Amino acid sequence: MRLVLLGPPGSGKGTQAARLKVELGVPHISTGDMLRAAVAAGTPTGLKAKAVMDAGKLVSDDILLAMLEERLSQDDVRGGFILDGYPRNLAQADALDHLLAKIGQPLDAVVKLDVPNEVIIGRCEIRFAAEHRKDDDPVVVRDRLKVYAEQTAPVADFFSRRGKLQVVDGVGELNEVTARVKRALADESAAANG
Ligand code: AMP
Repeated sequence: MRLVLLGPPGSGKGTQAARLKVELGVPHISTGDMLRAAVAAGTPTGLKAKAVMDAGKLVSDDILLAMLEERLSQDDVRGGFILDGYPRNLAQADALDHLLAKIGQPLDAVVKLDVPNEVIIGRCEIRFAAEHRKDDDPVVVRDRLKVYAEQTAPVADFFSRRGKLQVVDGVGELNEVTARVKRALADESAAANG
């Protein structure tokens, strides 16, 4: 299963991906986690990305594509993957399309977690208090939601036009949201098989 999880910051993509990877037996690839690891390790990529991430803006497409290309060339993604945090704009959606065509691994499904902004703001406040991620600061969260609306929301339309997008209600108890995502994937695979 090759799956992209879409949704605004704080919509639960990371949490759901961590659960789905166990169920689906494929790795969870989070570009946010990869960038945070690069920042923590002080790599050249991390040094370039840190200020941009702290401000809630998007790191450059070139950095992301190089990182993703490298990750998708590793052996453990041969059986599929769950991509979380990429693509975040139309240029990345296009780049992903080309990259997956090149390695002969087209997407099976794209699931968007739908969560209203007021719920997101509340969730990020809780995460900010617990983890102190600079980009969960309430002021930065508003900027991230703006970036999402302007740059990432069109990515959902991009997949929708191709008949690939499933929208799932991301509000509710964790198990219930996981069950909704699994139902959406089952529907997608039933549709693909005929
Ligand atoms: P996330 O954990 O997915 O919310 O990502 C945290 C931060 O990493 C984002 O606010 C961006 O600054 C950066 N980031 C993650 N994925 C991408 C991406 N696909 N393109 C650009 N920046 C990204």
